[in-house]
Amino acid sequence: QAHLDRIAAVDGDVHAFLHVSDHALDVAADVDRRRAGGEQLGPVAGVPLAIKDVLVTTDMPSTSGSKILEGYMSPFDATVVARSRAADLVPLGKTNMDEFAMGSSTEHSAYGPTRNPWDLDRIPGGSGGGSAAAVAAFEAPLALGSDTGGSIRQPAHVTGTVGVKPTYGGVSRYGAIALASSLDQVGPVTRTVLDAGLLHDVVAGHDIHDATSIADPWPSFAEAAREGARGDVLKGLKVGVVKELPDSGFQAGVASSFRDALAKLEAQGAEIVEISAPHFEYAVAAYYLILPAEASSNLAKFDSVRFGLRVDVPGGTVEDVMSATRDAGFGPEVKRRIILGTYALSAGYYDAYYGSAQKVRTLIQRDFDQAFASVDVIATPSAPTTAFKIGEKIDDPLSMYLNDLTTIPANLAGVPGISVPSGLAEEDGLPVGIQFLAPAREDARLYRVGAALE
Ligand code: GLN
Repeated sequence: QAHLDRIAAVDGDVHAFLHVSDHALDVAADVDRRRAGGEQLGPVAGVPLAIKDVLVTTDMPSTSGSKILEGYMSPFDATVVARSRAADLVPLGKTNMDEFAMGSSTEHSAYGPTRNPWDLDRIPGGSGGGSAAAVAAFEAPLALGSDTGGSIRQPAHVTGTVGVKPTYGGVSRYGAIALASSLDQVGPVTRTVLDAGLLHDVVAGHDIHDATSIADPWPSFAEAAREGARGDVLKGLKVGVVKELPDSGFQAGVASSFRDALAKLEAQGAEIVEISAPHFEYAVAAYYLILPAEASSNLAKFDSVRFGLRVDVPGGTVEDVMSATRDAGFGPEVKRRIILGTYALSAGYYDAYYGSAQKVRTLIQRDFDQAFASVDVIATPSAPTTAFKIGEKIDDPLSMYLNDLTTIPANLAGVPGISVPSGLAEEDGLPVGIQFLAPAREDARLYRVGAALE
């Protein structure tokens, strides 16, 4: 009830939610009843959960921020949603996002932007700005997001929250409306590292419905966070800093907060090591070919027949109906990427664009392999700037894409990443995050380090 009251009080301004559940209190009351009856419940039983609208739910609409899916009701729950329900989390509602998770500001939502609770004139990051804003505004204690190129970590950075992109294959993608299938991962957005670990423990693990899901069991991430909070884990830890990341690319307050965080790590016994990752600077370019290519293929299923919106064209052909529907149903950023992706995949251009981007992807994976031979984690600022003003970058796709400078390499390589608050920027008083990256399957290491810094 407290969270529903908070939503009623602030969400008119923040607009984190696209839909608020009308039966959350019933679910919570049922948990209370069972607890009172002596049933042994798990550690998160009864805790409210906000769910990014990219994740399908049977009891609430799932739009992925798009008009083409307005009012769409899924016949099944995403695996992460089913696991959340099984752990007795209480779904509160569905959160706003850039349409089909394309963006860094939530301004590309077909349902209007979400505002950053720290300053309502500023963006909450994207694409999962709704989940991050809900957590930052105390509308929800826990949220689920998805991260294809930074959509969990960059919103966490600009809202002072914690965001984790798990190892690729660590969390099921079944029921996460696909953006780019080789990059997408679902993960937690929370106020503390321990909270993220508790939620990650609920959703992690093998799922036969996702062919890329890792079969091996995972250690407890909550336990890893507790170990980190007890201290000592930083002693002798080697933290790599990428020498090729341009200093000039970062806002002054972001750069200084990053340096302060490194000094704190060093003071607790960590060793800061300069590493070389010469291909990181090509990550944005490679990503913005691979992502549109995969997205254009994934979005082909929105054909006016199988899902959602259909715009009838009296006397028109099937093609007329399809094109009228897609014209009305998709926003400008989605259309831009479909065109880009279709072009990159077309005969004659495939090798030059898509093929080259895949080669760069391999080189970035090798950069990580080489770096992790000598360091335990890599640290970077989570994003180049603090929250920018709503409207500032909306007409400049390239400057929007450059927000993803430090988050994208992890998606291209499949390695896990966490963004943890590292303070406020001097010049504007807005939150800044530090990102840690670990080798694939070493997500627990991120929880230890993140909790130790926290
Ligand atoms: N900003 C990135 C993009 O626009 C992030 C997307 C994501 O992680 N879903 O593609």
